[in-house]
Amino acid sequence: MVLAAISPLEAGEVPVGEALGRVLAEDVSSEVDVPPFDSSAMDGFAVGPGAAGALPVVGESRAGHPFAGALEAGEAIRISTGAVVPEGAAAVVPVERTETAGGRVDVGTPEEGANIRRAGEDVRAGSTVLTQGTELGPAEVGVLASVGRASAACARRPRVAVLATGDELAPPGAPPEPGRIWSSNPLTVGAQVARAGGEVVLSETVPDSAEATRVALSRALTGADVVCVSGGVSVGEHDHVKGAFAALGVEERFWRVAMRPGQPTWFGMAGPVAAFGLPGNPVSAMVTFHLFARPALRALQGADPAATRTTAVLAEAVARHPRREQAVRVRLEHADDGRRATPTGPQGSHILTSMIGADALALIPSGEGELASGERVEIELLP
Ligand code: AMP
Ligand code: MG
Repeated sequence: MVLAAISPLEAGEVPVGEALGRVLAEDVSSEVDVPPFDSSAMDGFAVGPGAAGALPVVGESRAGHPFAGALEAGEAIRISTGAVVPEGAAAVVPVERTETAGGRVDVGTPEEGANIRRAGEDVRAGSTVLTQGTELGPAEVGVLASVGRASAACARRPRVAVLATGDELAPPGAPPEPGRIWSSNPLTVGAQVARAGGEVVLSETVPDSAEATRVALSRALTGADVVCVSGGVSVGEHDHVKGAFAALGVEERFWRVAMRPGQPTWFGMAGPVAAFGLPGNPVSAMVTFHLFARPALRALQGADPAATRTTAVLAEAVARHPRREQAVRVRLEHADDGRRATPTGPQGSHILTSMIGADALALIPSGEGELASGERVEIELLP
């Protein structure tokens, strides 16, 4: 339902130096061969056809400074790694396999074509090197540069408003006071937004009042592509998020999901703006962000929302819940039979430390009894 509601954001040119983590909005092809010319793989000597024995050294080709002219039979030039192999050259002989004396170099009997990197061996002119929807990692930004691109069209980063509700919330660093807790959801959710390619444009903590919640959400909805508000979305007398969204005309798409943690999760749309009411418990907020909001952020950027879904084998039995699917935090080990998943410990939705060291969420279908050790389950990899 979330993905059905989302349309990709517009794209713009992004300089390659700032493109790490962005999602390509175009297919990128190379206009030229890469490498663009035949080049030397070694420091040594380039030799003309039919070379054998001692040859006169008639010049040099250095990286960035090609030899002007062609090599004739019976001639050699000094050449460095990456330098242009001149026309007429039959091979490059590494310096370690030569002997120089009196302006001549003994190259032995080199094999035709040895140590020459041919133009286009990496990329052929006209071929596609990267496709739309690709996330740009270190290798991808390198390839963009190697085909001469200074910028690439990338989807705009989604603007995300992160709100936390609760009269009990104090900022980290505030002195401890009875009944108050240090607020962690803005940090965890804000960090998850950044990892998902989004940009936190507003981060605000809102008291448990209908009016304050309405005002804060109204502001959030105007400046963002996605609103994530945590807490206040359940059925308590002091939960005002649903009422505020309704008052602001945000169209509810769903509320309550048969899962644990995360049952009270709410989702709605205000025009093109996606609004998520995440449960307040710290683990629930992170898990539901990952399962619902992160796919939305990826889809907004034109990236595959399902790229993080795979499977693993349970390393220990996990009790099922009769009516709710569970998202169990697991550590992954790589065994001969693939990934093995071990729960991180107590799984209460308030046990934020259970997220530490978690590599994935194991998705345990509802049902009776337990899933035995060795059963294969779907997992959602955590970034
Ligand atoms: P709620 O969904 O508002 O009923 O909150 C559920 C639980 O999550 C309560 O124990 C809250 O104190 C806790 N909680 C809500 N927001 C935060 C937050 N920002 N940081 C840490 N815990 C929170
Ligand atoms: Mg609350």
